[in-house]
Amino acid sequence: MMSSAKTRTSSMSPRARRPDGALRLLFALLLVFLSGCAGRAPPLWIPPATIAIEPGSKLTRLALGEHAVLLAERRSGASCVLLLNVHENESTALAAGSALLARYGGRLLSLQHGGGRLLHFGVNGEDARADPNRIFSRAGIAATLAHYGSDSAAARLALAGFSEALLWQLAPDRASAIITLHNNHPGGYSAASYLPGGALASSAAEVALAPGVSPDQFLLVSERRLFLPLAAQGFNVVLQDRGAPDDGSLSVYAAAHAIPYINVEATAGALATQTVMLEAALQLLASSQLARCRA
Ligand SMILES: [Zn+2]
Repeated sequence: MMSSAKTRTSSMSPRARRPDGALRLLFALLLVFLSGCAGRAPPLWIPPATIAIEPGSKLTRLALGEHAVLLAERRSGASCVLLLNVHENESTALAAGSALLARYGGRLLSLQHGGGRLLHFGVNGEDARADPNRIFSRAGIAATLAHYGSDSAAARLALAGFSEALLWQLAPDRASAIITLHNNHPGGYSAASYLPGGALASSAAEVALAPGVSPDQFLLVSERRLFLPLAAQGFNVVLQDRGAPDDGSLSVYAAAHAIPYINVEATAGALATQTVMLEAALQLLASSQLARCRA
């Protein structure tokens, strides 16, 4: 399909080869309209409509079932680190990323889906819910829909299409490293969840807990070269096991694609703590030549 499109466009005039944003939007809307008229399931991937806000900043609309999700992107400097916030209610994490973007550079992307943690969308007139950090594999998509009582073939198709469009925009394979920005709540998910006997023990190869530091404040990394320096600086750090179960999270996706990955996880509201942890992660990537774009 791609090669036939290529052949077709090569015979067009230079102007026709580069449709402007309005034409792309029209094409996307036409596709949605036609798929609705024909009474068929929506196409797996709908071209996103992108609006440039200002230089280095844009907003992209991604279709999700009968609804849409916005993906905001800010870009700074020459770093190829990808910073990502997927749970919209975790605003402390996003604020930490915003505070350091200009100093360290990179791409900071965040999902906007109604202000909460979960994705809410309609499919065949039914409401569906899913965790946006459980959609990066087919197994994860099925499991998160089932967890929220939303599993159906149509919901899986809609979520798979959204995941594909999101990955297209994130372009993780072109990132030198990924940093995800999350917030938790006291007594819930923490580094202690990965200790022997913990709910997530099977996902961890090693856990370093710093004396006197709450396990709620921690980093989860995909590689030992990231684990050791951060643990040596006195942070709580979890090294994800290579055989961690595929729960559809981006950490497992990143490990499978050999993309260095750091999750910076801090209590909601603990902006100063999270900013210190994020800065340590960014400095480590820079000093390890992991902020440089791949050749
Ligand atoms: Zn989160």
